[in-house]
Amino acid sequence: MLAMMTHTQKKVLRLSSSLPRLRRNNDRKTATLSTPDGKRPLIANTFGLPSGKSFSCPNATSVCEKVCYAGKLEKIFKGTRELLLANWDAVQNKSVKELQEMIQFMIDDFKWECNKYNAAKLFRIHWDGDFFSNDYTQAWRKVIEDNKDVQFWVYTRVPDAVKILTGIDNLSLYFSADDDNKHWAKRLKEDYNVKLAWLSSTFDEASSQVKALTGAPGAKCPEQTRQIPLISIDGGACYSCGLCTTNKTDIRFSISKK
Ligand code: SF4
Repeated sequence: MLAMMTHTQKKVLRLSSSLPRLRRNNDRKTATLSTPDGKRPLIANTFGLPSGKSFSCPNATSVCEKVCYAGKLEKIFKGTRELLLANWDAVQNKSVKELQEMIQFMIDDFKWECNKYNAAKLFRIHWDGDFFSNDYTQAWRKVIEDNKDVQFWVYTRVPDAVKILTGIDNLSLYFSADDDNKHWAKRLKEDYNVKLAWLSSTFDEASSQVKALTGAPGAKCPEQTRQIPLISIDGGACYSCGLCTTNKTDIRFSISKK
């Protein structure tokens, strides 16, 4: 029903809704469109929640807690932290239906901007944070299924989220794995054939781990190896690269970038 309304009808509905508004983020790496100097994103195509076990990451591992890039940005940038905390407050104690409505409103705004700037409809769920409850994950599933004109992608350390989100055409789903949760990576690979985003100290270590489970090493993230820039006039690294956004292969990340 919501997905079939015009943008104006949805705006009217949102203005009359008592539900809080979710806010998107700009991210240089995920941007589909950049400023003419190629330095900043023009469209906010990602959404985040505060990270860590005290917030939205129930399955944070010791490895990811130590190196969490997004968590570090939260500490550095007060405005970013406030935006994430506002999103966090907004999603508390809501039903699946309410969460679905809130997420759909956010995606409507995103699509409206994409149409205005003639930009690709590519949306990264959770530049920071994770699926903190099954209700929240179910709400995302419904929104993704209702918006087939958007290609979504996400990495999660939550096994239940993989189970709930598996098998959606317009979602590229990755299980984020490392030494601490490799038992889950094995099970989810076997049961759901989910793609893996593996984090190790080095690319070689990650290669051994991925190969042990899949028979192939997976691809190194080319932004980490500096084969492609974080952002350029052609957009962010992920938009130019496309490996994760299209679910092409298992991916390796290295803490040392070596
Ligand atoms: S492999 Fe490509 S799509 Fe995936 S994180 Fe790296 S740059 Fe982005």
